[in-house]
Amino acid sequence: MDVSGRTLLDEVAARRAELIALTQDLIRIPTLNPPGRNYREICDYLAARLSGSGFRVDLIRAEGAPGDSDAHPRWNLVARREGAAPGDCVHFNGHHDVVEVGHGWTRDPFGGELDGDRIYGRGSCDMKGGLAAAIIAAEAFIAACPGHRGAIEISATADEESGGYGGVAYLAERGWFAPDRVQHVIIPEPLHKDRICLGHRGVWWAEIETKGRIAHGSMPFLGDSAIRHMGAVLEEMEATLFPLLAGKRTEMPVIPEGARQSTLNINSIHGGEVEQEDGYTGLPAPCVADRCRIVIDRRFLIEEDLAEVKREVTRMLETVKSRRPSFEYEVRDLFEVQPTMTEKDAPVVRTTAQAIEKVLGQSAGYVVSPGTYDQKHIDRIGKLHNCIAYGPGILDLAHQPDEWVGVQDMQDSAGVMALVLSELLAP
Ligand SMILES: [Zn+2]
Repeated sequence: MDVSGRTLLDEVAARRAELIALTQDLIRIPTLNPPGRNYREICDYLAARLSGSGFRVDLIRAEGAPGDSDAHPRWNLVARREGAAPGDCVHFNGHHDVVEVGHGWTRDPFGGELDGDRIYGRGSCDMKGGLAAAIIAAEAFIAACPGHRGAIEISATADEESGGYGGVAYLAERGWFAPDRVQHVIIPEPLHKDRICLGHRGVWWAEIETKGRIAHGSMPFLGDSAIRHMGAVLEEMEATLFPLLAGKRTEMPVIPEGARQSTLNINSIHGGEVEQEDGYTGLPAPCVADRCRIVIDRRFLIEEDLAEVKREVTRMLETVKSRRPSFEYEVRDLFEVQPTMTEKDAPVVRTTAQAIEKVLGQSAGYVVSPGTYDQKHIDRIGKLHNCIAYGPGILDLAHQPDEWVGVQDMQDSAGVMALVLSELLAP
């Protein structure tokens, strides 16, 4: 039996009230990360729902992962529904954690308030609305096509907001995204219902330390100031490194436009005496700083090589060293992620683009994320390259006060995801 696209979109539309209620329920479970609250509660809620829809559910605790403890266990859910005949597995992955509330809200951040077309709340846009849309898409497809081929999987995973090590990375390391069990992955992150996100830029975080010698502040010539050395590093960075990076443009369709080049942020700078607690009323001590550290966040392009990215920094430091006889430094790697970009002709990209055209009557846009998300683990650890981010919600609203997700956007993207299922799994 073939499923007509129209029937399927009707099945999705008929579930609009359910889509709203599901999104509200998910928002009302405050899965704040850090520290990782209520992960078990949200997994239990989803387990009950999905087993009711014919899914076999596994709850997996990422024991020993960063952040995992008995007080805040890292729970993940993977639900799988086998079809009537062999075929591909389409997997929807949503992170269930949300970032802190922050200030400036005029709505209850965990109320799930519906006002007109909008549902408000922390995580509504990033990304409980997307997770709800994927679930409704799957349920609508199953209703229209109970005898489908292959398998549908839905996962709700922990800790995306803090790197995904207690979530997708943990599952990928244990084979949950192995290419012999999952063939297509859609991550319904909030990237607008008409755009397909193909991947992300690379990341290198490092700490650079300059070294000096402590001495009395009244006789600085007896010491060697690590802060002055760092000043020279920062000057060299302004003079040569930032212009070099600005000149490196990418063919990746990164959004926003400003991120379509190499970038570097200095996350922090610390030097000399440690800062005292707020209540400290004494004076600082007069000392020459013997250590100064910065943490850099370098985002690199698919056209760049990580080894070369690191060499650029070393070369810059060597230039400073050649001018300052006592200059000594150390560079420590903190974190790195390779850039990734799925090809436009990959099956999940092509099918999603066709579905967007059918539902929205316009051709799909292609974007690349300036920062990383869980695709990095699926691609790198799971070795599954046929993966995109596609989901409802306006990216800019993520992590903001009064975050919201549009009901019509959710419904439209659920329609797109249901059509993708139909294209890949209908008998
Ligand atoms: Zn997210």
